This record gives sequence, C-alpha cells and structure tokens, in this order.
Amino acid sequence: MEHLPEMHLQHPATVEEAVKLHAAAPASRYLAGGSDLLVNIRRGIERPDSLVYLNGIAELHTITDGLEQISIGGAVTLRELAESQLLRKPFSAVAQAAGKVAGPSHREYGTLGGNLCLDTRCVFYNQSEWWRAANNYCLKYRGDICHVAPGGKKCFAAFSGDVAPALLLFDAEVELAGPDGRRRIALAALYRNDGMDHLTMTRGELLVAVHVPKIPAPVRTGYAKSRVRGSIDFPLAGVAVRLGLQDEKIADLRIGLTGVSPLPFLVRGLDKFVGRKPDDACLEELREVVRGQAKAMKTTLTPPHYRRRVAGALAQKLAESIF
Ligand SMILES: Cc1cc2nc3c(=O)[nH]c(=O)nc-3n(C[C@H](O)[C@H](O)[C@H](O)COP(=O)(O)OP(=O)(O)OC[C@H]3O[C@@H](n4cnc5c(N)ncnc54)[C@H](O)[C@@H]3O)c2cc1C
Ligand code: SF4
Repeated sequence: MEHLPEMHLQHPATVEEAVKLHAAAPASRYLAGGSDLLVNIRRGIERPDSLVYLNGIAELHTITDGLEQISIGGAVTLRELAESQLLRKPFSAVAQAAGKVAGPSHREYGTLGGNLCLDTRCVFYNQSEWWRAANNYCLKYRGDICHVAPGGKKCFAAFSGDVAPALLLFDAEVELAGPDGRRRIALAALYRNDGMDHLTMTRGELLVAVHVPKIPAPVRTGYAKSRVRGSIDFPLAGVAVRLGLQDEKIADLRIGLTGVSPLPFLVRGLDKFVGRKPDDACLEELREVVRGQAKAMKTTLTPPHYRRRVAGALAQKLAESIF
C-alpha cells in the first residue's frame, strides 16, 4: 500500500453544499466512513484530488419512522443500522446484514451510503499498484484484458456489499441529490450488470437516504453469508430471504443475492413455490434455483463453484430456520 497522496478535504454542512463542492473539483469523491475508498486510494485504484466529507451533514444521520416508510440517512453507520429498534421484524434481514459487514471497528464508521455505493471487487483488482502493474493491469483499470475471462470485454468483478440484497427484499428506494436536484429511484435501478461501471448514478450524485416501505404481511426475513474469515470479511456469497406462510404454505418468497455477480439482485422465478409446503423437497428445489442464478466467476481465491453451491445452501438453510 502507498501513503495517502495530498488531497483537499472539504467539510460541507448540507447536501446541497456537498453537491456544489463535488461539482467544483474535476476529480473529487464523496468520503463517508472511508473504509473502502481510503483503501482504494492507497492502492492507487482511486486518484481523487479532493474529498467531500459527508459526516458533518445532519440530514444524512437520521433514521425516521414515517407513516408508510422507514427512511435511513446515507451516513447512518452500520452499527446504528444493526442496533436500530426500527429494523426489527419484519426488517430483521437489514439489521442482520449490517451487523455482518466486516468487523466491529469498520461498522462503527462504515456507512449505509458507502456500503450501497461500494466498488466491485476482484482478486486481480484489489491489489497494490506494483502487483497490478506486474500483471499488466486489467480491463477494469488501466489494462486491456480480463484475467478472469480472457478474450472477452466484460468485467465480472463482484458487488460484495452485504446490505443491498436485504433492502431489495422490501422494494427499497434510494433518494439521490445531484447538480440537477433530487430524484428517487428503486434500489434495484441503482445497479447494472457491469463490473467496470456498476452504478447508474450520474457524476456528482449523492445518496441522501434509503426509503423502506412498510409491509402489512407477516413475513419473516434473515441474512446469511459465507466468508473466509468469520470475524471480518466480504461475502463469498451473501443471501437474504423473505418468507411468508399462510395455512402452512408459502405465500410470499423473495431471495436477494450479493457477492456472486457485478450487481446485487433478486432471484427470479420463485412464484412456482407459492402455495407449496416448505418441506425438504421444496427447499432442495429452492436451493437448486438459487445455485443456478448465482453466477460467481473466478474473482476470489475461493473457487466459483464453491460460491455457487454455498449460495444455494445458505438460501435453503435460512428459509428453513426463519420459521
Ligand atoms: C478489511 C475489510 C473488510 C470489509 N468487509 C466488508 C464486508 O464484509 N461486507 C461489506 O459489505 N463491506 C466490507 N468492507 C467494505 C466497507 O467497510 C463497507 O462496505 C462500508 O459500509 C463502506 O462504507 P464507508 O462509509 O466506509 O464507505 P467509503 O469508503 O467512505 O465510500 C465507499 C464508496 O461509496 C461512495 N459513497 C459513500 N457514501 C456515499 C453517499 N452517501 N453518496 C454517494 N456516494 C457515496 C464513496 O465515494 C466511495 O466510492 C470491508 C472493508 C475492509 C477494509
Ligand atoms: S473481472 Fe476481469 S476486468 Fe474485472 S477486475 Fe477482474 S480481471 Fe479485471
């Protein structure tokens, strides 16, 4: 790792001021907890000339319980999210996912906004400058080949934030502020399936808040992940499950995945499980559906087939355990 280069550190007090400061410097970046960005700067992956520090903006630190939704500010920390009383049933998956990010010290200053806007990861990318130079870089940054899928022009670096798949279970929306004002989009629309450019936000947009609609149905939810070091690591695969039963049959089923593709996403084709009893045969079938859509590539030292299998197994176990 290199020393941190010289950069201007800006301290805005409002969202609008932050957006203006960002627009004024050609290569600026928003800085929240810095637990991902500062590491990437020290690796030479990011080279901003100015950092717009979001911690002094009061609006970004609130969690509010509205009539129809819970709103969580972009700079709310992962520890606050994990401990929030508002995120108990049925939103347990969100609190559990936040509580499983990295280690306790990261959760103390790492934020929701930083977690949702996390860069994608790959074993050929998250390396020091000299390591990447020795390997002729790669498509994602400065190079012209992909070491994971040589010959192709697509980057498969994996989105590995834990909280996004849990929020996807609830049709969460994100509020963005940019030079053209504020807008609100579905969280799912924040992402695209491209490891080189996985966020759809336009340059200078800031994630102000996440709005989670309240749900009347009595569903239960949970989050589980597989990681190399149990106390502090990104997910090799992360799975969020939402399950509702009526008369002992499945009435509501959603599964969100992370760590296995360039974007977090909801598993498709789960309607066929509605109306069935969640017995062994049903849950084994569910495991296979999840495994089939977890298209992990060779972006970690752990083999992709393990990550695909573990995604299915986690979904099966989680669905079994939350009821
Ligand atoms: C050892 C280690 C282990 C880790 N393990 C995990 C893990 O298990 N799971 C996991 O999910 N993460 C993990 N992380 C990554 C990181 O700690 C968390 O994802 C954290 O939530 C990032 O938040 P932050 O506030 O520190 O983001 P920052 O580093 O400040 O920012 C990350 C990115 O988001 C942008 N950004 C931040 N806030 C906003 C905003 N409000 N609007 C627009 N853009 C914004 C920044 O410009 C930057 O590009 C790990 C990191 C380390 C160093
Ligand atoms: S998937 Fe390929 S292009 Fe993307 S970071 Fe890894 S090696 Fe680079």
